[in-house]
Amino acid sequence: MSAVGPERAPAPTIGVLALQGDVREHVAVLTALGAEVRLLRRPEHLEGLDAVVLPGGESTTLSLLLGSSGLSGPLADALGGGLPALGTCAGMILLSREVLDGRPDQTSLGVIDIAVRRNAFGRQVESFEADLDVKGLETPMHAVFIRAPFVESVGPNVEVLAAVERPDGSSRPVVCREGSVLVASFHPELAGDDRLHRLLLDEVRSSR
Ligand code: GLN
Repeated sequence: MSAVGPERAPAPTIGVLALQGDVREHVAVLTALGAEVRLLRRPEHLEGLDAVVLPGGESTTLSLLLGSSGLSGPLADALGGGLPALGTCAGMILLSREVLDGRPDQTSLGVIDIAVRRNAFGRQVESFEADLDVKGLETPMHAVFIRAPFVESVGPNVEVLAAVERPDGSSRPVVCREGSVLVASFHPELAGDDRLHRLLLDEVRSSR
């Protein structure tokens, strides 16, 4: 019989919205960090989750699938009740209060007070990479932007953790946090950088 070790908190269970998009990459990062991962496809999958991740993909499609799966209302309720979340790219769009340049029938969950513009970097630079300084991280994050949104405006309780310079000299937020909801315009899960996922797991620990 093995000795009983010091008591450890059970691994957190993280739901990854698995309706469309780059689900597998998020599952791999979270699993490597020691989390239990559950694919989130139906309302009953929310039961007992410690946090959720909303991956990149196509926000118009994801918005439709959130509706048809019945997840939209229960997920918004859970997030409104304080369930920690990380949304990347399309996932950021889904979590936002307002979507600019969305499809007319596109809806969002409205749990972070930001207005997000879809495909905001324009056709000529639809995809690009950049090294970003992110508040709270010691070294820059290598960020992969794929037909990425940026944030046009933020509410008073939103903290901007990173921004990119535009050609006109203005800067636009690309990583934001409000309470336990963290969003990024880019795809940390594709660049082998797990630090935003770690922030999510830290949030779970501190909210337990
Ligand atoms: N352009 C996509 C959208 O509007 C987002 C792209 C992505 O998630 N990589 O949903």
